[in-house]
Amino acid sequence: MKSAIHSSAGKICIVCEEEKQRGIHLYTEYICTECEGAMLQTDVKDPMYKFYLQQLRKVIIPKIYS
Ligand SMILES: [Zn+2]
Repeated sequence: MKSAIHSSAGKICIVCEEEKQRGIHLYTEYICTECEGAMLQTDVKDPMYKFYLQQLRKVIIPKIYS
């Protein structure tokens, strides 16, 4: 159970949309190490792969079309 008051040390992961302490920066956004690892292990045929792509598009597509 998360406390309503938490430290601001973590950042919001764009994939799981949770505040995580560890992760990588992708452009101006942030992906936690768990999601990064999960994405790398997800097969393109896996339904979850589409979800990850969808989340990433929010970050990557606006940059490409700018
Ligand atoms: Zn995450």
